[in-house]
Amino acid sequence: MENLRFEKRAELKQKPTDESSLGFGKLTTDYMLAINYTGAKGWHDARIVPYGPLSLDPATSSLHYGQLIFEGLKAYKTGGGEIVMFRPRENIKRMNTGLERLCIPTLDEDFTLDAIRELVNTERGWIPSGDGTSLYIRPFILATDPVLGVTASDSYLFLTILSPVGSYYKEGMSPVRIFVEDKYTRAGAGGTGYAKCAGNYAGTMLAQKLAAANGYAQVMWLDGKERRYVEEIGTSNAFFVISGEVITPPTSETILAGITRKSSVELLRSLGYTVTERPITTDEVYDAYKAGRLDEAFATGTAAVVSPIGELGWKDEVMKLTGGKIGKVAQTLYDELTGIQLCKKADPFGWVYRV
Ligand SMILES: *Cc1c(COP(=O)(O)O)cnc(C)c1O
Repeated sequence: MENLRFEKRAELKQKPTDESSLGFGKLTTDYMLAINYTGAKGWHDARIVPYGPLSLDPATSSLHYGQLIFEGLKAYKTGGGEIVMFRPRENIKRMNTGLERLCIPTLDEDFTLDAIRELVNTERGWIPSGDGTSLYIRPFILATDPVLGVTASDSYLFLTILSPVGSYYKEGMSPVRIFVEDKYTRAGAGGTGYAKCAGNYAGTMLAQKLAAANGYAQVMWLDGKERRYVEEIGTSNAFFVISGEVITPPTSETILAGITRKSSVELLRSLGYTVTERPITTDEVYDAYKAGRLDEAFATGTAAVVSPIGELGWKDEVMKLTGGKIGKVAQTLYDELTGIQLCKKADPFGWVYRV
């Protein structure tokens, strides 16, 4: 690729030999992608360089005020040995939406996609091939002005780092316990909930920690104003199946527009399911549960693709769903979506991007 400089690493890292102990985000590869921005030059000096520590002035503005946006997507090695990514352009588009909200200059979609592809291609030897494994791709941009004033920076650094990750489910997909969080919230009207910006996640860790102490895998977030409407589940989007109808809250300024969510809606509709994007309250979920009409509930996101919910803790109630088994819609969605991602099934939507 033109305009992309390559700096060779003196010595390559040791690659892992045991794919079953990869975990999530513990290892990084040999190289990273870097692009600089200044007001005078725009985005410039795109390069693939050895992965390593950054040298930052302690006054670097993003370290204090969180002017930082990240993304998350995956590359897979298919059964046929091909390297593919899932809808990567959608991630760059979403990153640009977040960048605008945080007063960070946007990226050129085509150039950025090509540069990420080049990095993944350089590191193809790091992509695991075991069931459920992948190469996690983490692009991010941070403000780099060494100035303590609370203003948008004039300089930025775009980086992309890669991490080989293990299967989210060690023994196949299994239902998780979710706690409905009715005290803390993750987003408010007029805020940054729809952007993958660093600060949004710092604010979620207390609720997550408290829920984990009670044996819950994640929290279900409610709206910031009334704590009535379901918004998201951890860092994934929420789906309910009530009397056969699949319901997911509509994306809004307080909900992150998941690419897995959007793909799930399209895919389930193509399979003949009725999928409705509308607000849904915890009362409606509970009433449906009591009436025996809550068929199942699940979450969607890049990390686990689909997480079926086995138990939903709300106030003093514990709703037990699908008899502790995986719901039919969640299983179908998981099989179809991962089938397309790994090129085991036809891709009528054109979602698979070959590296
Ligand atoms: C990333 C993320 C999601 C899921 O988005 P995908 O594109 O499907 O991975 C959902 N909610 C939040 C808060 C997120 O950060």
